[in-house]
Amino acid sequence: MLRLLAASATDAGRIRNSNQDRALVAEDLIAVADGMGGHAGGEVAAELAAEGLGSSYELATSMEGLVAAAKRANRAIFLKSEADAELHGMGTTLTAAALVVSDTPPALHLINIGDSRAYIFQDHEFTQISEDHSFVEHLVRQGEITPEEALTHPHRHILTRAVGIESEVDVDAFSFAAQPGMRVLLASDGLTNELPDEEIAAILGSESDRQAAADALVRAALAHGGNDNITVIVADVEDDGIKDPGDADATRVETELPATAVALPAPIEEVLPPRAAAAVATAPIPRDVRTAPRVRERARRIERLVTLRVVLFVIVLLGLFGGIAGFTVWFNRASYFVGIKDGYVTIYEGRPGGFLWFKPTIARTTNLQLSSVLDSSRSLLEAGLLEPSYDKAQQVVDDLAKENSILGLPTTTTTPPTTTTIFVRPTTTTVPASKAKTKSGSTTTTGHG
Ligand code: MG
Repeated sequence: MLRLLAASATDAGRIRNSNQDRALVAEDLIAVADGMGGHAGGEVAAELAAEGLGSSYELATSMEGLVAAAKRANRAIFLKSEADAELHGMGTTLTAAALVVSDTPPALHLINIGDSRAYIFQDHEFTQISEDHSFVEHLVRQGEITPEEALTHPHRHILTRAVGIESEVDVDAFSFAAQPGMRVLLASDGLTNELPDEEIAAILGSESDRQAAADALVRAALAHGGNDNITVIVADVEDDGIKDPGDADATRVETELPATAVALPAPIEEVLPPRAAAAVATAPIPRDVRTAPRVRERARRIERLVTLRVVLFVIVLLGLFGGIAGFTVWFNRASYFVGIKDGYVTIYEGRPGGFLWFKPTIARTTNLQLSSVLDSSRSLLEAGLLEPSYDKAQQVVDDLAKENSILGLPTTTTTPPTTTTIFVRPTTTTVPASKAKTKSGSTTTTGHG
């Protein structure tokens, strides 16, 4: 798997008291920021840019993620400068490179804002990738001054674009197919204003050890005057020999790359499939600046969702139990049946034999004796005649009494052996109590209650 291995070196230079340059060396990500602004403004801006880029980029390792991270850093610096009068107007350059092995093929992405520079050195070719966003660069492009004149121009420090000056910033972006042996140099203008390209290339070509190369570049800039802070990062694209387990396709594509793709600079458009190349061609300044914040927001939302899900689950569970309990109570209470208690027809609330932990309770003991009920009805009463309401149950009792009256069965006036009478309906006929008692005593009641 390809890796971007980096070494950095920095020096305040021979003139400046403070070093307002910052270097970021992270996993497959490097950046140089050259701060500017009164008091500590330059240092703060450069620090925010480097750190902000690093933390935001972690959330989305891609070209889009890199550009979004730079834009996010820009906004953070701008907001801080707006909030703090002492930091007002601070800004910084920001030049960064990222190796994205998940790209197909693995890609080296470079971004730039300001006049720090990104170079690629490969096969003894030294190529400046970034374009300075400076006043003198503008003049050079206009043909008004030569590159040599730009090096000593009195306004060479004026930038036309920087990070943190405005709420939004445009980001230059460049993509290349990453190749082992590719060496990337990021440098603040403290190096490039002092050393001509040939001298820089000579050092990069002669020092295979990247830390030694970085140190040698800073020493050389100091030797040439050291008029500004000097910061360099030398990074090598290397194959660590470990196959990326989740990226078999990328490995295959890499091995199938045409030989021309090795040439430097090898813009990614040359080796990518047409659609991917089109995406890269439009990639330099994506308008969507919220990629990284959105990833972070998503992570936060997942955390919130986990908590919310647990709470919802508990609520649903409680609701379910409550519902079942409520239904059980309702189911039990909404039922009445006509049965027998101590030889008397009795209305119960509940269900015959009970339901779950609910036992039937006596709603009314009538004065109609079982002995006064037709034999065919007795077995029904022994099992319990279920009715949907008390009134329906009472209707059954009335009907039983009517049967009794029509068929001339013996009746009784004996008071039921319980006092839980709720409703009292007059009986139509009476029979001697002694007979009723005898009949009652011989009757077996089923076990309700
Ligand atoms: Mg500088």
